[in-house]
Amino acid sequence: MPLHQGPEKPDERPMSVNPFYGAADPVGGMTEAPPKHRLPTAPMPPSTAHQLVRDELMLDGNSRLNLATFVTTWMEPQAGILMAECRDKNMIDKDEYPRTAELERRCVAMLADLWHAPDPSSAVGCSTTGSSEACMLAGMALKRRWARRNADRYPGARPNLVMGVNVQVCWEKFCNFWEVEARLVPMEGERFHLDPQAAAELCDENTIGVVGILGSTFDGSYEPIADLCSALDALQERTGLDVPVHVDGASGAMVAPFLDEDLVWDFRLPRVASINTSGHKYGLVYPGVGWALWRDKEALPEELVFRVNYLGGDMPTFALNFSRPGAQVVAQYYTFLRLGRDGYRAVQQSTRDVARRVADGVESLGDFRLLTRGDQLPVFAFTTAPDVEAYDVFDVSRRLRERGWLVPAYTFPPNREDLSVLRVVCRNGFSTDLADLFVDDLTQLLPELRRQPHPYTQDKGAATGFHH
Ligand SMILES: *Cc1c(COP(=O)(O)O)cnc(C)c1O
Repeated sequence: MPLHQGPEKPDERPMSVNPFYGAADPVGGMTEAPPKHRLPTAPMPPSTAHQLVRDELMLDGNSRLNLATFVTTWMEPQAGILMAECRDKNMIDKDEYPRTAELERRCVAMLADLWHAPDPSSAVGCSTTGSSEACMLAGMALKRRWARRNADRYPGARPNLVMGVNVQVCWEKFCNFWEVEARLVPMEGERFHLDPQAAAELCDENTIGVVGILGSTFDGSYEPIADLCSALDALQERTGLDVPVHVDGASGAMVAPFLDEDLVWDFRLPRVASINTSGHKYGLVYPGVGWALWRDKEALPEELVFRVNYLGGDMPTFALNFSRPGAQVVAQYYTFLRLGRDGYRAVQQSTRDVARRVADGVESLGDFRLLTRGDQLPVFAFTTAPDVEAYDVFDVSRRLRERGWLVPAYTFPPNREDLSVLRVVCRNGFSTDLADLFVDDLTQLLPELRRQPHPYTQDKGAATGFHH
């Protein structure tokens, strides 16, 4: 969340309110809009409050046209009903809502199976508010295991975590909040994610783990997890260092198992200690759910797990939050049940087909160079072709916005700060029809863009917002 500050001008001039909203009797009812930055003095009728809040929200973007976010923007009405029915259930009250807790347990078991845990009965896992919380938990487990291994040198030694510079911001947060040095493998040339060899070279006795991403937020590419594990195997042979891997599968852990079954990236690799995913990305659930799983109990130090008895029972939990909505977990179980493997495969395949179709469409316009083609995550990044000088990706992002499309433009991190890209994230609900409209809109913008004397967008930072 943005860290909000108070208003600059707390005492605004009173504004009038639509007489229709004011009250059943437009003469005797409310005539002045309530204050925005302090609690109104008196209550108002629910219909008035409802209307005022709805009006405030009218200028929010249309979520289905938001090609910036990875997060689910459409679910079936039945899922919506189920969520509404569960909105009063607090996930932490496992004793009061044992059936909700049971559905959570089943989801963990299904994911352990999907991700090939060697012994699903020994794998452990939990739901979270999203991948960020899941990554914090996984990072904490790695750090605690390192501290145990180094009990004689800890706390003097400084732990580090090795990862590509393309990691999602949650890993920078983890390192900052838990005081772990972030060792980042830079991008190089046309390599936009982690290089296994370079990652292994950054490891030392204080490395708590290496993070591999399936797939990268920046361009949708899968990092080579199996090669990363081999490079770390070789490192262990050479030096004795045994460095665990965490796979950040925020998006890809719900894509690859269905579409890329031959790709070995999960618990089949003995070095993979833990995996996270966002239930609310390609898990296909509305915002508010993620998952973290450890391959076995050894991978999750027991002392991090809390048992509280003041709600009754003593269910073990591992979480940053205490209270949390149960509805999203129920919706995840619903979606698992509803789609099954074949259903997920069909949904993800059609999303990938749409991504490839749009990528091809963009490429055929001739003005752009594709960095990725939507054939890993259904996400692709593209930039302007070398001979395009009249406009840049920030201009394209701004002009697409005029037609309602949200497509972020941003610069890449070291060592490719020279490269600015646009990124399109395809999700379930972005239909072939909408995809074609998008390419049509882009096509129609090109003549004007090409006539620009030079790129216009001055505030390059303004167009970003890709860190979803
Ligand atoms: C989205 C994302 C995250 C953060 O996930 P949230 O569920 O939004 O907290 C972490 N890592 C990667 C690779 C992501 O794409």
